[in-house]
Amino acid sequence: MSRPYTGRFAPSPTGPLHFGSLAAGLGSWLDARAHGGRWLVRMEDLDAPRCSQAHADAILRALEDYGLTWDGPIAYQSRRLKAYEAALGQLVAARLAYPCACSRKEIADSALENIEGPVYPGTCRAGLHGRTARAWRVRTDDAPVCFDDRRLGRQCQRLESEVGDFVVKRADGLFAYQLAVVVDDAWQGVSDVVRGADLLGSTTRQIHLQRLLNLVTPRYCHLPVALNASGQKLSKQTRASALPLPASPALLAQALEFLGLPVAQELRGAPCPAILSWAVGHWTLPSPPARTRPRPSTA
Ligand code: GLU
Repeated sequence: MSRPYTGRFAPSPTGPLHFGSLAAGLGSWLDARAHGGRWLVRMEDLDAPRCSQAHADAILRALEDYGLTWDGPIAYQSRRLKAYEAALGQLVAARLAYPCACSRKEIADSALENIEGPVYPGTCRAGLHGRTARAWRVRTDDAPVCFDDRRLGRQCQRLESEVGDFVVKRADGLFAYQLAVVVDDAWQGVSDVVRGADLLGSTTRQIHLQRLLNLVTPRYCHLPVALNASGQKLSKQTRASALPLPASPALLAQALEFLGLPVAQELRGAPCPAILSWAVGHWTLPSPPARTRPRPSTA
């Protein structure tokens, strides 16, 4: 039996919302509302020096102003360290995680590269050999981890050869995003993760951790990612501009169009709530890029 729909938006409060995060948040909100589901907001504020309450408050104000209302209290990852410690403890007790002494440079010098960076060659799997532990890594194996993305279809990855044993607690003492996200999606009862396709490559690592920790795997849907004129993902690093406030219905309509839902003519000039309620009634997932669509049969 399928679980009641619970979606979530999980911004890192390192800066204000921009068009790209509005589009991702909007897609997740619409999918939840179109399913009659709940929609939660979680602040991924583990990286304390880069995050602030002021950014979190600004994100919440912008969501509210654009009409993306949430259910329940806001979760803050900075208040959940005990839960991540417990999850790491569970992995360590089962010998599924191990301490690692390798520096970034050592790994870069000895490892094969994939598009996301070096594949960890497993140097510390067999022990530290007197070296000092820096980070904690989870063991991977090479059986393909697969899932059916609701938009992009079947995705598979062999973690050991394509990623390597990956970090669950960083050398600077911070819990890694992959661990925290998995613990929290389960804790919050998230049934549907709808987020930008920039995170597609993280999903198999998250599923691997869910399996090791005996957690339910949500359904996943990865949305198109908004790019700037130079083809870079809109982000704080690429100096994406903050969303205008008060909310701009024209920008909301642009975000909907980006998600493949051009706003009906009669709604041009309507306020955000009217545009949103129309969009909930018309929501369908954006089409996948042409190259991932099944080819028409020539037979
Ligand atoms: N905090 C992540 C980000 O802002 C999103 C995490 C997720 O949706 O899984 O990119």
